[in-house]
Amino acid sequence: GFLAEADDADATTPRAPVVAVMGHVDHGKTSLLDALRTTDVAAAEAGGITQHIGAYQVRLKDGQRVTFLDTPGHAAFSAMRARGANVTDIVILVVAADDGVMPQTVEAIQHAKAAGAPLIVAVNKIDKPDANPQKVVNELLQHEVIAESLGGDTQVIEVSAKARTNLDGLLDAILLQAEVMDLRANPDRSAEGVVIEAKLDKGRGPVGTVLVKRGTLRRGDIVVAGSAWGKVRALLDERNAQLEEAGPAMPVEILGLDEPPSPGEVFAVVDSEARARELTEYRHRVKREKTQAAGGAVSLADMMAKLQTKKVNELPVVIKADVQGSAEAIVGSLDKMGNDEVRARTVYSGAGGITESDVNLAKSAGAPILGFNVRASKQARDLAEREGVEIRYYSIIYDLLDDMKGVLSGMLAPLQRETFLGNAQVLQVFDITKVGKVAGCRVTEGVVRKGARVRIVRDDVVVLELGVLNTLKRFKDEVNEVPSGQECGMQFQGFQDIKEGDYIECFTVEEVKRTL
Ligand code: GDP
Repeated sequence: GFLAEADDADATTPRAPVVAVMGHVDHGKTSLLDALRTTDVAAAEAGGITQHIGAYQVRLKDGQRVTFLDTPGHAAFSAMRARGANVTDIVILVVAADDGVMPQTVEAIQHAKAAGAPLIVAVNKIDKPDANPQKVVNELLQHEVIAESLGGDTQVIEVSAKARTNLDGLLDAILLQAEVMDLRANPDRSAEGVVIEAKLDKGRGPVGTVLVKRGTLRRGDIVVAGSAWGKVRALLDERNAQLEEAGPAMPVEILGLDEPPSPGEVFAVVDSEARARELTEYRHRVKREKTQAAGGAVSLADMMAKLQTKKVNELPVVIKADVQGSAEAIVGSLDKMGNDEVRARTVYSGAGGITESDVNLAKSAGAPILGFNVRASKQARDLAEREGVEIRYYSIIYDLLDDMKGVLSGMLAPLQRETFLGNAQVLQVFDITKVGKVAGCRVTEGVVRKGARVRIVRDDVVVLELGVLNTLKRFKDEVNEVPSGQECGMQFQGFQDIKEGDYIECFTVEEVKRTL
């Protein structure tokens, strides 16, 4: 995901870490985010007047920077992860020293683990007379979060958001963790990033808060964010100051989009308005088709389709069983089941009925839930239905394993083996009444064949999958095949934007079934 892109060969310049704050309700997430905001060297001068934009960056005395996602709670974090936008480098787990580890603390630990983000524990409310940080450390141990003081690798920092105690210590811990992670990005390229928040503002129109991940975003850039696009009219920071540009790990509000983009959506700068229109039109259509097809469901079938196209070879699963022993047995057998190509990955396993928290976790990991001798609560069932998370129930371990073996076998690549047939270049496009677009082409390589699959390649980029080639003509005659060097006519429905110079790639797809 996005984290991995930090390893790009061109990612040479150190960047600020992106930090999310999570924890149980009332443990002080909001207070801590507010307190940390004031550690910025310029915060005092600006009089502390800030507007909420979903993320902010603090600049420290030594010039180092830290970006905080100002969206406390797990919902925003999961929403972004569910869309595959893993923007968080480090998770600050806030635990109140007078209350200790609570259900949402455990949930936050699971979320961070599923995202592969290292944790730093902020033991908050240390000013309280009944604060007991040692108890917090011990409780965390039961959830495999092992403090440095106990020989583990998790930094535990005692703070008070209210008394503003040891905020420097927390910042130092973040910077240390960031240094270990060696976070880098390339500022000298066109900008890419993620939408953190968006709204429709009465005066200013659609406003999106974006976090730049790579490159530098500038005023006047043409930006595509999901199905929204526009020319960036203004860049604003959380003090409402106009910026000329924003580099990696910098959060900014942007004005100028044609509609509010969805949080978690990826944005990128493109080189022309025409390209932006082309992309957004295509995405609008995909969005419509997706909504019609599945309502955004996370079913095993969807997962498999996604895994095949993305060539990811892991099937994430959440396992709930009646007792810990059976959960462990299932996880153990699933671990052994796969091979180098495919395997199941247990994002979470536990004993007890299926809860709403399990469903949220499954949703954010894109995983189905496998229940062994357990059932989902009514609330969990309703949530799973709404979120489109699949729950499968089993009462025999062998059945569960057999079923998963079938699913994993179905994921073995390549299920669809593509064979290249040929390329044709578009020489001229005719718009014929009642018929639609007809492309006059010359076959430049191999053959083109009626009934084969086709896609459009423009400047070596696949811009559209067209489906099957239904009409292939040479002069007035319908033909089955046209070889290299000859000219032909091809007709397409549904794609209005075919252009001279485009290549039409012709290929066949063969279904190959395999089993583990
Ligand atoms: P959130 O639900 O995690 O965002 O928690 P809040 O930031 O809203 O804090 C919950 C309550 O705890 C509020 O009444 C805060 O004033 C209080 N609180 C937060 N941090 C501290 C702290 O360090 N010390 C004390 N004594 N109270 C705190």
